[in-house]
Amino acid sequence: MEYSRLFTPLDLGFTQLSNRFVMGSIHTGLEDNLKHIDRLTEYFAERARGGVGLIVTGGYSPNLLGKLSPFGSTFTSLKMVRAHQTLTKAVHAHGSKICLQLLHAGRYSYHPFSVAPSRIKSPITPFTPFAMAGWYVKKTIRDFAQAAIYASQAGYDGVEIMGSEGYLIHQFLSARTNLRSDEWGGTFEKRSRFALEIVRAVREALGPNSIIIFRLSVLDLVEGGATREEVFSLAREIEKAGATLLNSGIGWHEARIPTIASMVPHAAFTSITAELRQHVKIPVVATNRINDPETAEKILADGQADLISMARPFLADPHFVNKAKNNQAMRINPCIACNQACLDNIFQNKLASCMVNPTACLEDEWKITFSKRSSAPKNIAVVGAGPAGLNAALVLLRMGHEVTVHEKAGTLGGQFMLAALIPGKKDYARSIEHWHSEIVRLGGKVLLNSELNPDSDTARKYDHVVVATGVLPRQPKIPGDHLPHVFMYDRFLREGIAPANTVAIIGAGGIGIDVATAIYQFGSDTDENSKNFFAHWGINPAEKSGLIAGFKHKKSGRTVTLLQRKKAPMGSTLGKTTGWIHRQELKHQGVTYLNDLTYEEITSEGVWIKPTQGERRFITAQQVIICAGQLSENSLVEKLKRAGIQHSLIGGARLAGELDAVRAIQDAFELAKSEF
Ligand code: NAP
Ligand code: SF4
Repeated sequence: MEYSRLFTPLDLGFTQLSNRFVMGSIHTGLEDNLKHIDRLTEYFAERARGGVGLIVTGGYSPNLLGKLSPFGSTFTSLKMVRAHQTLTKAVHAHGSKICLQLLHAGRYSYHPFSVAPSRIKSPITPFTPFAMAGWYVKKTIRDFAQAAIYASQAGYDGVEIMGSEGYLIHQFLSARTNLRSDEWGGTFEKRSRFALEIVRAVREALGPNSIIIFRLSVLDLVEGGATREEVFSLAREIEKAGATLLNSGIGWHEARIPTIASMVPHAAFTSITAELRQHVKIPVVATNRINDPETAEKILADGQADLISMARPFLADPHFVNKAKNNQAMRINPCIACNQACLDNIFQNKLASCMVNPTACLEDEWKITFSKRSSAPKNIAVVGAGPAGLNAALVLLRMGHEVTVHEKAGTLGGQFMLAALIPGKKDYARSIEHWHSEIVRLGGKVLLNSELNPDSDTARKYDHVVVATGVLPRQPKIPGDHLPHVFMYDRFLREGIAPANTVAIIGAGGIGIDVATAIYQFGSDTDENSKNFFAHWGINPAEKSGLIAGFKHKKSGRTVTLLQRKKAPMGSTLGKTTGWIHRQELKHQGVTYLNDLTYEEITSEGVWIKPTQGERRFITAQQVIICAGQLSENSLVEKLKRAGIQHSLIGGARLAGELDAVRAIQDAFELAKSEF
């Protein structure tokens, strides 16, 4: 497919964007310390090399108090200017434009000196902010303008002013967080003044030939948020104040509605950007859950937006744009919106990377590794076609080896394919298709229904075998577990077994929670359908804040009891940025969660448990699903040893404890560093 609209340049009057792709702002942690400046430079240079038209950096505060965290980034000194000059040059060398994002966190700052329009604590940070005095409001506006000047001196093509997602400017805009009675609060006009004065001050500071993007919240998704008339009137005023582009922000960070997680359908919110486009003359940017060129092209073809912003998809594949341009969409490594190695890392104070691309944010290091092709290519077998095995095959092919993948099952993907069967995780299947097609393109072979026998002539032909045989579901020995209504989770998902009305789930880790979600959503279709997704979460863009007042979730009518032996809160092992969605969903559905117990027996009517505190009790269940973790399946290793065949062990087959796909794929990439 040709993406003619995506590759039509955009003339901004004083400058031109080579295509309609914007790499949206995503905080990687590399911004927070100048010691990472070379890594940050290579990270952006690689995306520019990959063809993106306009890059927006992670957020930099215009002053000290606006930092996201005590060690967060600011853009307030000539030292920053000098350090970033190399970065902007590297990006410009590949024909891309780059804007620095100015983000004042306001009450979302994770430090005790945070400031905000009013002294109201946010529900997602522990610190109560200080209310800004009038003189300090004016100083902050000047700080935005000064930071923009520094950005321009550093070679940036302009700035993005972060006015959405619940950060300081948004806090001024909203009656929810702005209770002031001076000239910065009260009516919507007065609450808008801070945002508009910042845009005017930045325009005056930069002159007419710099890009100013304003990220405007088109849908607040919190009570007390803006009406759509307020959003559109503000957009017109921001245009008059001098903005070049309007980016779409969706939801405050404290909103309890998913906006970027995998269960959000692709391009779910672009219809609201389309409405915004009717109210302004400057180009508008569509965002959120756009991760493939077809969807992006369609948004432009439908006249919904002028530019498409993606952030995480550029972590997953820095060469996304050039692959689309060369009509090689299948070569794009898709972002699956898992958040597991990007945003979840950031929330744990680690640097961001990407589950499906462990080289993200480490481009400089991996470039050296991948530049060393093997001087003595080997004939290598990879056994197992889960995420570890398929990525191992890819890495080894890139190193110049000959590779054959043997998969015992009739399908590819292992645990990843099971994940793809969970509602909201369909993109996982796209990763498997992508890995497979890349292996074939690079000359590798993939054999299904093929078990490698270490004593066979076939095995002896290989110089090396990579064992990526994954995991087997753990079968706890509970009396009655052989009964016909008891299912291991893999069979339950693979065979698409219809859930009964009452179900007990033994094990409440990541998979137990996923299975509970699958049971509640069985037969409904919130995937890939914005209308159903909006109906499920009570979203109506026409309502104030975009929320249906007094909305109650539709219940599935099934009764699910989640059981776990240890004393831990429900879903405590889930990712920081997505765990709340699963917990909230299960609570809405009325799941019963019981922990701190032992299992005594499964009968045809349910499960006998013994709580640590209290009497044994019976949980009624017409079906029992076992999700009790994993055991490594590495029986091949002993046989290879006996046959004297060189081998390595990766992924779940190496370590099943707390197995996750991030580690499995990381293991596969590490093979590139080994000498065999
Ligand atoms: P897990 O998260 O480690 O959970 C295993 C569950 O089995 C726990 O509830 C554990 O609790 C229970 N269990 C362990 N041994 C048992 C035994 N002998 N008898 C009964 N229960 C037992 O593993 P998983 O659920 O299989 O998930 C695999 C990996 O994929 C994990 O790393 C997980 O984080 C990841 N994953 C993540 C997500 C997500 O973030 N959304 C979704 C799916 C999978 P007790 O031992 O206390 O009973
Ligand atoms: Fe996308 Fe997951 Fe990679 Fe983040 S870690 S960029 S969400 S694939």
